[in-house]
Amino acid sequence: MRLVEAMVEANHRALAGDSRAGLRPADFANSLPIAALTCIDPRMHPLMPEVLGVAEEDFIWVTSAGNRIAHLGCDTLLTLSLACAVHRAREILVIGHTDCPFCNLRPPQLLQHLQALGIDLAQAAGKLNDFLSQFTDEQHNVQRAVQLARSSVLIAPTIPIHGLLVDIHSGRLDWIVNGYQSKGAPAVESTAKTEPAAPPAARTDGRLGGGYKIGGDLPPIGSG
Ligand SMILES: [Zn+2]
Repeated sequence: MRLVEAMVEANHRALAGDSRAGLRPADFANSLPIAALTCIDPRMHPLMPEVLGVAEEDFIWVTSAGNRIAHLGCDTLLTLSLACAVHRAREILVIGHTDCPFCNLRPPQLLQHLQALGIDLAQAAGKLNDFLSQFTDEQHNVQRAVQLARSSVLIAPTIPIHGLLVDIHSGRLDWIVNGYQSKGAPAVESTAKTEPAAPPAARTDGRLGGGYKIGGDLPPIGSG
């Protein structure tokens, strides 16, 4: 089982009440650290990176409004590229979330928010409309960002690029794009079993909505 497949499975097991669900980072040393592109929504802060079951030191966090990559060569894409080149991220995750305002509000509504701050829309209406009109639904936003990143020459073809959606309330992760299935992605299989070996050294301090903790009552990383 590969890293993100194990992440999703552990997440589902934990949400189903399995207090022993978690990742053992040593089993996935060849796939860590990861770089994650998420939305700027502050509700993501209590979720990341605990919902993924990885430690903070293995989590390189890049954010943009609506987890959007504007175009090939944009700053967000360059940042992801440098996360791999400089900080040695082995895999990239684009993680959208449910109830994203950028997807649920139409461009005129978003423009009204800017106008309410006294911004003169006449100065930048064209560029703003282009930007805001590219937000669609949460799943499509993730798919588009993955497609752009995958087609970029700035990201090595050996770096898997995945798309996930996280439920902002429960912390449930769902696949949008399995990057292991893309051409060029390595098949770095862990020897970890589907059933987590005891004692899994998953994080224990991640609290999601409803009191969920990834790793349940297991000891923190490095303690066992
Ligand atoms: Zn959002």
